[in-house]
Amino acid sequence: MATSDPTVKTAPAVDETGPDSSRILQTRGLRKAFGGLTATDDVDFALEAGELRCLIGPNGAGKSTFLDLLTGRLEPTAGKIYYDGADITGLPSHERVDRGISMKFQVPSVYEGLTVAGNLRIPLQRVVEPDAFDARTREILERFDLLAERETVAGELSHGQQQRLEIGMAMAMEPNLLLLDEPVAGLSVEETADIADLLREIADDDGVAVIVIEHDIDFVETIADRVTVLDGGSIFREGSIEEIRTDPEVKRIYLGEDR
Ligand code: ADP
Ligand code: MG
Repeated sequence: MATSDPTVKTAPAVDETGPDSSRILQTRGLRKAFGGLTATDDVDFALEAGELRCLIGPNGAGKSTFLDLLTGRLEPTAGKIYYDGADITGLPSHERVDRGISMKFQVPSVYEGLTVAGNLRIPLQRVVEPDAFDARTREILERFDLLAERETVAGELSHGQQQRLEIGMAMAMEPNLLLLDEPVAGLSVEETADIADLLREIADDDGVAVIVIEHDIDFVETIADRVTVLDGGSIFREGSIEEIRTDPEVKRIYLGEDR
């Protein structure tokens, strides 16, 4: 039975003394209510440094709300968020960014009227000294395959290029934790494969912890170390992609919807 499976979610190692320092991120009893609707319901979540975790679940499961609580875009109704050994629950978003939490939102948020290089300038100005600016810009353009588009206005990029630019902007902040809300929605098979490679590199080579919200279970299968399934605002299951994919209850609440 899935409920007796040792890989299934158990309480994280947080006590009154604070977070487990081996984890880059932990939440404890995290809750968000919108009036009578509980969008995030007592979530105890833990992520290791350099881990790539996929967050799946049906529409309205509370995936975006959970990431919004991590970035500080939303304030929790109850509970705690620990990042890199510190309680960040009350910190404003910009201070979380300064501590190394970067987010790529669901809605594309490149500056359409600026060039690709101009877009990168915005995050880079916060972290890079002026003399290192050009070299760092070039490095990011190369890595995200946008060198030829350097002077292209972002509004004229393909959807896949825009997504790569946005991930590049988030990585320009040199994060330790990168949060992505549906980064491959609407992309072609090739564009999706490019993003999958980039995310694996970011976790494996840069050691950045990554949380990706994604609907496409095939994409999840190609990238994830572990998968967390949210349903009704709570953690429903957690495990390897194989465990999640073959779990009949997960199939029932989630996979059965689109497949
Ligand atoms: P998901 O990203 O998994 O599709 P969301 O986190 O966007 O789910 O939403 C979870 C639930 O919270 C949904 O029922 C949604 O309607 C509700 N919700 C999200 N944001 C708000 C808000 N700002 N005000 C009221 N209800 C919200
Ligand atoms: Mg969402």
